[in-house]
Amino acid sequence: MNMDLSRRAFLKGASVGVAGTTLGAFGFGGVEAAYAASVKPFRLTTTKEARSSCPYCAVCCGMMIFSAESKAEAGKMEVTHIEGDVDNPVNRGTLCPKGAAAIDYIKSKTRVKYPMYRKPGTNTFERVTWDFAMERIAKLMKEDRDANFIETNNDGVPVNRWPTMAFLSGSSVTNETGWLTYKVSRGLGMLQIENQARI
Ligand code: SF4
Repeated sequence: MNMDLSRRAFLKGASVGVAGTTLGAFGFGGVEAAYAASVKPFRLTTTKEARSSCPYCAVCCGMMIFSAESKAEAGKMEVTHIEGDVDNPVNRGTLCPKGAAAIDYIKSKTRVKYPMYRKPGTNTFERVTWDFAMERIAKLMKEDRDANFIETNNDGVPVNRWPTMAFLSGSSVTNETGWLTYKVSRGLGMLQIENQARI
């Protein structure tokens, strides 16, 4: 006997089994078989599942992301279903409406998936590489810092402020990323550090 019974295999078997045995108890033998055959397989049986976390607020609920082969693009996988992760101690399988609708954000036509750049004098954005984006951001930050950095206040006291730049972080970053964010921002002299997490 195969003891390695997955949750979805159990649910698939249980749904057909319950329907069948209920009808069988009423004496509908042939109907029982026909009905059991008509019950659709559990819809996640052919999907792959992965654990993730919701990126939208500081609660950081656990999510199960289900994906299947894309019907639109051969050889590609696409997300088909998202639900709360019952094993996650934060949300125990629940999601608020925003998290429960996350698949719509993933599939949104307006979702930005790559760094985009609008050249001076144009009105359209074009896709660029991460290297290009990072270099451009670093260059602009350096120029701004060189132009606006304040080393001392009016009394000559060292303050090392960079008042023209701000840093926005996310709620789902790890402790280590949060620590690095703070160190880099403060180390450069930024005063405005904002975070989606209300802590
Ligand atoms: S599911 Fe809702 S409560 Fe949970 S992290 Fe996402 S937005 Fe926040």
